[in-house]
Amino acid sequence: MIDRATAPLVSVSGLQKAYGALQVLQGIDLTMKPGERLVVIGPSGGGKSTLLRVMMGLENINGGSITFAGKPYIHAGATPAKTAIDVQVRRSIGMVFQHYTLFPHLNVLQNLILAPCKVRGEKKSAATERANTLLIRFGLGQKATAFPSQLSGGQKQRVAIARALMLDPKLMLFDEVTSALDPELVGEVEQVILQLARQNMPMMIVTHDMWFAKNIASRVLFCAGGFIVEDGPPEQVLGAPKEERTKDFIDRVF
Ligand code: ADP
Ligand code: MG
Repeated sequence: MIDRATAPLVSVSGLQKAYGALQVLQGIDLTMKPGERLVVIGPSGGGKSTLLRVMMGLENINGGSITFAGKPYIHAGATPAKTAIDVQVRRSIGMVFQHYTLFPHLNVLQNLILAPCKVRGEKKSAATERANTLLIRFGLGQKATAFPSQLSGGQKQRVAIARALMLDPKLMLFDEVTSALDPELVGEVEQVILQLARQNMPMMIVTHDMWFAKNIASRVLFCAGGFIVEDGPPEQVLGAPKEERTKDFIDRVF
């Protein structure tokens, strides 16, 4: 029998990704357990975004595979999310990007209910009720009818997170979601993610914010040159890294 507490949620095996002649992911092996929060750090160009984009099914790959809750859903040689099961698994993963990806012509509420109504066939009234609950929880109760252009960067990112949550993800991927924000707006977005962490949402987070990394990570990966160079508890990887390359990076960046 499979033990749900210890069976991997995500299992990445021999993952390779190239853009033309550029080999970006050089054979990534990674296992994530339910309830883990992986913070991914590393130099620009190291493959962090590519790894998350592949996990989300946004890129095809050149080798390896990824399994989610025991179901293989990313395979080499296949178009992303090709089979019904791939699509089903992919929909249980949510992703938020550095640059806001809200639909500009829809208001906040419409942004939130579009996918649940279109993709899942949820009733508009039910989706609206769930959306309003989420908006209140995220301090956006007054913004339901505002358009993205009327929001601050921090509000936009909170809406983007709420929108991803509307599809009941079983894993959330955050790719530098505060990097484009004015410093005074970073905290409100990080607080929303910390709130999700307290509810045990499994997540992978790419961030350059040391405070946030220390406060949210249950595990830290240092990714460089298309490899996971170091993988361990935050106290170790951030506080006393074993690898010279990790140490150099942390001394420079944080
Ligand atoms: P990181 O997020 O760690 O900064 P990325 O995953 O964005 O790194 O990029 C890894 C490498 O892949 C970089 O050399 C980048 O230039 C390259 N790359 C990323 N996306 C593309 C693309 N769509 N086409 C070609 N090269 C890309
Ligand atoms: Mg990136």
